[in-house]
Amino acid sequence: MARSNMATTEQATAPRGAGTERIPFLDLITPHRQLEPELTAAFRRAVRAGAFIGGGEVEAFEAEFAAFCGTPHCVGVSSGTDALRLALHALDLRPGDEVITVPNTFIATTEAISQAGGTVRFVDVDEATLTMNPQALGAAISPRVVGILPVHLYGQPADMDPILEVARQHGLWVLEDACQAHGARYRDRSVGGIGTMGAFSFYPGKNLGALGDAGAVTAREAGHAARVRRLREHGQARKYYHDEEGYTARLDAIQAAFLRVKLRHLDDWTERRRRVARWYDAALADIPEVHRPTKVSYAKHVYHLYVVRVPNRDGLRRHLEKAQIGVGLHYPLPLHLQQAYAQHGYRAGAFPVTERSANMGLSLPMFPELTEAQVARVADAIRAFYR
Ligand SMILES: *Cc1c(COP(=O)(O)O)cnc(C)c1O
Repeated sequence: MARSNMATTEQATAPRGAGTERIPFLDLITPHRQLEPELTAAFRRAVRAGAFIGGGEVEAFEAEFAAFCGTPHCVGVSSGTDALRLALHALDLRPGDEVITVPNTFIATTEAISQAGGTVRFVDVDEATLTMNPQALGAAISPRVVGILPVHLYGQPADMDPILEVARQHGLWVLEDACQAHGARYRDRSVGGIGTMGAFSFYPGKNLGALGDAGAVTAREAGHAARVRRLREHGQARKYYHDEEGYTARLDAIQAAFLRVKLRHLDDWTERRRRVARWYDAALADIPEVHRPTKVSYAKHVYHLYVVRVPNRDGLRRHLEKAQIGVGLHYPLPLHLQQAYAQHGYRAGAFPVTERSANMGLSLPMFPELTEAQVARVADAIRAFYR
């Protein structure tokens, strides 16, 4: 009560703009303004080439992104969701097949499984990393399980070696959901190049974002890549000869041209995100209520999101919004408790680590252009709330 009165008084008396400039959760304006000359040149090149679906820009981007991920094959598609769905088809998912994944992810992960004809089987995540808990896999294995779909959530790679070991023992494939983790590394490998296949999203807010919807599939085997290439274009390898039914799920040439420009900046942006994370880590270290993202020795985290876990999360969220600081929830309701999955009959308590993280997680502003002073202001606002 006193706190909210104080905030109101402050807002009424503080001179406009003095130290109260809004810190956005994400800034999509600044980087694009900086890149405008490069982006417009790429746009002009694509327009003049007159190839709008497929063609040289798409092929060049695929080669460049495959090299970036250290994978032999990359196929550009229309979104991250389509990347997951086409990869699952290419892995020959059949009705009744079960795929193991986690309930603390964006719904695209499980939509892709269901829409490719499979059945979702959840396992809980690890308390420290919030990625798939490999210890939980044993109990979820059944004769119907054909594959494992770990999610490199927030930019933190899942613990892949034990996951790959379980997959090897049971003859399963592994599809990595790398939609939030472009350039993240697990030991000496880049995500998307560790499992059988990988799926990336280039939704504008992702670490590598198009100027619209786009995605990519990575693959180790030429056969899987060829199948995705065919599926993205109505099941045809040769025009009007359809080996199977497919989709309209191609990457636009203009988006590929934009992505080629932005890919050249990705390592720099990633290093800046990691620097922002180090500023947060230091600035929040003296606030005992704040549980910071875990750093693990095997991984290079690329901080798509910087998510803290805190008591009275909703109170802090309102406090930060009032202080002109943009925050987000990723995600407020775990997938197993969503209305869309009510038919599975899961109850609260089924996946306690995921549920705790949904209740306590708060995503702080995170983007490469964030300054140390802005990070300090966020930390000060959090400190003031818990005092
Ligand atoms: C963004 C995202 C997707 C889906 O990507 P779209 O390009 O939006 O279809 C899938 N999985 C995760 C974890 C994501 O964050």
